[in-house]
Amino acid sequence: IIRHLGVVTDISSQKEKELVLQQALLRTQELSQLKSQFVATVSHEFRTPLATMQSSLELINYHLASAATPVPISKHLRVIEQEIEKVTDLLSDFLSASALESGNIRVNARWFDLVALCEELLSTHFSRRQDQRRTHFLVEGTACQLYSDPRLVEHVLINLLANAFKFSTTDPPTLRIEFKPSEVVVYVIDQGIGIPLSEQGNLFQAFFRASNAGAIRGTGLGLVIARQFVEHLCGHLGVESQEHKGSTFTMTLPIDFSVLAG
Ligand code: ADP
Repeated sequence: IIRHLGVVTDISSQKEKELVLQQALLRTQELSQLKSQFVATVSHEFRTPLATMQSSLELINYHLASAATPVPISKHLRVIEQEIEKVTDLLSDFLSASALESGNIRVNARWFDLVALCEELLSTHFSRRQDQRRTHFLVEGTACQLYSDPRLVEHVLINLLANAFKFSTTDPPTLRIEFKPSEVVVYVIDQGIGIPLSEQGNLFQAFFRASNAGAIRGTGLGLVIARQFVEHLCGHLGVESQEHKGSTFTMTLPIDFSVLAG
């Protein structure tokens, strides 16, 4: 275990040996706990949408079988579509988490138009499924192309915007991009439930869910992945939040990732 964990190479006394072994065993227990938690979360998160889809399909079958009943099939198909979207998002979170863990995140940087990417993702991901609550989209400064990985940037933005919708019920979120000479700052602002101050330090830990998240669904993995992606792009992901007032997540990225990545 000691060699595997790379804890110590030179152990002189018996006492030191015992201490190192104890630490190694503790770490192994922690990892095993995380693994169990992961399996439990995965099972739970997949079971609910699958059950919803199953009952919608049963209702469709029922309506089709009884010709006299008016057929609200499109409503049930819509539910299935939404649940498939949820499962797809979940899978993408789990796959990203496992890629991160195995060190398999590769940055494929190229020049791209961040404003166009945002417009595209707002219309594809957030125009239909969020009750028509349109995101306010603002661009400040002189817009320019970004040399970064558009796939990773898109993943982070989808995650932050999905949270902004999920944790607020009335006002739509704001997506604000501020172009500066050598960096771009992207703000995702919501006026939702916010995050209790005392819990904000845990936000970027795997499986963390704030105490006020209640029954709102989630895995507690999205932000961990998002922060790691942003750091792979030599950027920074931060948050400011006030309970009952709302949250602002801020992603800062260099205009040219290659300058900092070397
Ligand atoms: P998930 O949303 O799947 O639970 P995340 O890692 O994206 O996982 O978020 C972790 C937790 O942080 C959430 O469960 C929630 O408690 C809190 N959180 C994240 N974004 C927001 C937000 N915009 N408003 C309020 N709470 C948030």
